[in-house]
Amino acid sequence: MTSVVSDADPVLQAQAERTLSAVPTGLLIAGVWTESNEGSTIHIENPATGQRLARVCDAKAADGIRALDAAASAQARWAETSPSQRSDFLRRAHNRLLQDIEAFAALITLEMGKSLTEARAEVKYAADFLRWFSEEASRIQGRYQRAPSGGLHHLISHRPVGPALLITPWNFPLAMIARKVGPALAAGCTMVVKPSELTPLTALFFAEAMRDLGLPNGVLNVITTSNAPGVVEPLIADPRLRKLSFTGSTRVGKILLAHAAQSVLRCSMELGGNAPFIVFEDADMDRVIDGALFAKMRNIGQACTAANRFFVHESRAEEFGRRIASAVDALPIGNGMTETAVTGPLITGTARRNMQDLVQSAVVGGARLLAGGEVVPGPGNYFRPVVLADPPADAAVLHTEIFGPILPICTFRTEAEVIDRANDTPYGLAAYAFTEDLSRGHRLAARIEAGMLGLNTGQISDPAAPFGGVKHSGIGREGSVEGVMEYLNIQYAGLAISAA
Ligand code: ADP
Repeated sequence: MTSVVSDADPVLQAQAERTLSAVPTGLLIAGVWTESNEGSTIHIENPATGQRLARVCDAKAADGIRALDAAASAQARWAETSPSQRSDFLRRAHNRLLQDIEAFAALITLEMGKSLTEARAEVKYAADFLRWFSEEASRIQGRYQRAPSGGLHHLISHRPVGPALLITPWNFPLAMIARKVGPALAAGCTMVVKPSELTPLTALFFAEAMRDLGLPNGVLNVITTSNAPGVVEPLIADPRLRKLSFTGSTRVGKILLAHAAQSVLRCSMELGGNAPFIVFEDADMDRVIDGALFAKMRNIGQACTAANRFFVHESRAEEFGRRIASAVDALPIGNGMTETAVTGPLITGTARRNMQDLVQSAVVGGARLLAGGEVVPGPGNYFRPVVLADPPADAAVLHTEIFGPILPICTFRTEAEVIDRANDTPYGLAAYAFTEDLSRGHRLAARIEAGMLGLNTGQISDPAAPFGGVKHSGIGREGSVEGVMEYLNIQYAGLAISAA
């Protein structure tokens, strides 16, 4: 397999650049696009070419506080809006994303690198969250009950937690925002959004769309910064902030939890993963290959749900290795700005070097290279997907979240052994298993330490399903009926009702 990198389609590229020129580059505070008082900027690069796409405002701590001022001032009025008003707004936001799907997808591809096909799928996925939460906004229910003792009557209700800080990563520049903004709006919370400094353009375009749809000033504020700790820490320390929702690495999640402890801040944490992908001896190999390609290669492997460790029953390992290697080898590499399905670049040069180091150390330790391995010429952070057989048990590739297209294959003999090995990680986000045995599927669901299990599928994300992890993979859930609860406090009123 030669490492040819295909170019961007010039017509699509020109359209994308027209969209780019419409993206605001300031900070959205209290409904107005403003600059930072200090006037510095962040350069945003296209990972497919290394070229600069835009410069956006580089917020300082004082800008973050201004954004929280706006969110705090808007909180009471937004909380008082009717569920139907919030639901209608979210439905219009859903429609807007679909109406502008090409523009959003182009921005995602430009700043993050995934193919247009995957970027469009992300826009639809993001829009689905907004629709889901437009429906949930009207279903925030309470409870009324008589105390068992017969004394008080209990009124149990849900109230918006208050201004929220939403911190998002670069790998899904729109979907990660939609699945936080959607439930926050539905619950009646105002917010400050801090997108990744690597991919802020989609977030800024989204914020402008929400402003244009008539979201009241101050409900959604956006700040972009190259100094995340310097801006975020004063916000977490500010008593007006009542909620933090973070998606990103476990390393940063732990830092934020430590800061949040000082304010006893409600936290939702979607952190890293190290997903096992288990292939039992009775698995349907066609489904396995489809599932493996999706679970490993979607987003160029840059997903917290990505399959990280492949455990294949020893009787099927040769077949799996041969078939997945040829499928992976056939994936074309190229600039995502094309209608052809391609594997795009990794997000940064550092990410690419990390992949090279992981492969090299596994091979030095005795792993066999079944696919990939050649260096792909630049510009752009391209990396040809790699399949590794039999990495040593202590190989870094089995113990770190790879966050890229490397597929390490280990073998196993028994169900009990593979469950123990699958659970032998501090993480517990996603897991995948392929078996035709229903009872085994149920046993696995009971014993696997993961917030999400894909049985005979590599696709688990769905706005109607609770997304989240256990152990070091996080706290709380996004999407589903649980998602909106993350933005609500429970209040109980005890009513003493006197006899007439
Ligand atoms: P990833 O590399 O997957 O984006 P990170 O955890 O580094 O994961 O980043 C996720 C988000 O957290 C980004 O928006 C980033 O700017 C932000 N971030 C990174 N470090 C900190 C920090 N120390 N405090 C607050 N936010 C941070």
